[in-house]
Amino acid sequence: MVVQINANYLKLKAGYLFPEIARRVKDFSSKHPDADLIRLGIGDVTEPLPEACRNAMKVAIDEMGTLEGFHGYGPEQGYLWLREAIAKNDFQDRGCDIDPDEIFVSDGSKCDSSNILDILGDSNRVAVTDPVYPVYVDSNVMAGRTGISKDFGRYEQLLYIPITAENGFQAEIPENHVDLIYLCFPNNPTGAVASKEQLANWVQYAIDHGSLILFDAAYEAFIQDESIPHSIYEIPGAKECAIEFRSFSKNAGFTGTRCAFTVIPKGLKGVANNGEKVDLWSLWNRRQSTKFNGVSYIVQRGAHAAYSIEGRNQINSLVSFYMENATIIRNQLSEAGLKVFGGENAPYVWLNVPKGMDSWQFFDFLLLKANVVGTPGSGFGSSGEGYFRLSAFNSRDNVNIAMERIKKL
Ligand SMILES: *Cc1c(COP(=O)(O)O)cnc(C)c1O
Repeated sequence: MVVQINANYLKLKAGYLFPEIARRVKDFSSKHPDADLIRLGIGDVTEPLPEACRNAMKVAIDEMGTLEGFHGYGPEQGYLWLREAIAKNDFQDRGCDIDPDEIFVSDGSKCDSSNILDILGDSNRVAVTDPVYPVYVDSNVMAGRTGISKDFGRYEQLLYIPITAENGFQAEIPENHVDLIYLCFPNNPTGAVASKEQLANWVQYAIDHGSLILFDAAYEAFIQDESIPHSIYEIPGAKECAIEFRSFSKNAGFTGTRCAFTVIPKGLKGVANNGEKVDLWSLWNRRQSTKFNGVSYIVQRGAHAAYSIEGRNQINSLVSFYMENATIIRNQLSEAGLKVFGGENAPYVWLNVPKGMDSWQFFDFLLLKANVVGTPGSGFGSSGEGYFRLSAFNSRDNVNIAMERIKKL
């Protein structure tokens, strides 16, 4: 073949975090086949789907078996009844002026947060936090928006904003100009949150610089502190400078069912080469209509049920369950003498690895001595070195056993 490949893919660092974890776990398991491994690593939920969502999907399946209730291709933007429920419950009830029209239902915010680059130009200067959800970085690499990876594995042309214990895990406003800013709060991996004031500073920066904030609120349901905003649109001015990504994956356990949405306010405008202002909503609408054919009717019915009274109660219980796990992890690790962060408004606990070890050494140590799998902080970026992520997504028994084993070390 003489077909050219997208050479940007060759810039990607070989050892993507989760395959490398899988490799080490497999290696360990083959040497210790009887070890009872507890996985507090990958950020996937473990509890069953809420009953309200399951029931709604069952009804939808039966509807699909009738002539009147059959649904073929739906609107690429999502069914209006789902977008209305989202707009009301997630935004209008929190004082955010978001219209159902501004919501685009999708099969995941991982894909939305990478696909968004389709409608944004090549020469935008991009900022990410460090550590960071790897999808933001790798999707920019694949799209040719970065140089090669160099010192500490950082890609050229990306601006990395450290979030570490030294700055209280707050992304400091850059002194230079950036066009696109990826923010994820509550944060994966650090479990940190952003206050109203901090987000207001970002919105002000974006307005002053004509920048666009890409705000990932996948974990908003885990916020316990009432003063913390759930949406960037709780900040005045955000509708002029921010896109928000949301997902049913973590709150309603839809990681395997697949439903999410992206909010693109109608007033958001980018600039064409000739200086003309173009609204992003139309571009995204065009993009989705061309490249996407909507989420399954059945799944959208399931997502819609997340807003029913039963659905909300069941989701609240799920969130509380995981947050109790997070509290147990925090408390037990603190007792074991480890310094812990996060886990109060997010399902992730971020900890300092013991002195004398780096993140991967601590990973191997935990795997070998406690048979517990976590995630090395350095896998999320060079500023994550010296840290480690444990996830609260597991059964209570597994969390308790894992903590007992770690305390014995
Ligand atoms: C889990 C997660 C999501 C959700 O992705 P889906 O594709 O909707 O499952 C989005 N952002 C972050 C940071 C996540 O950790």
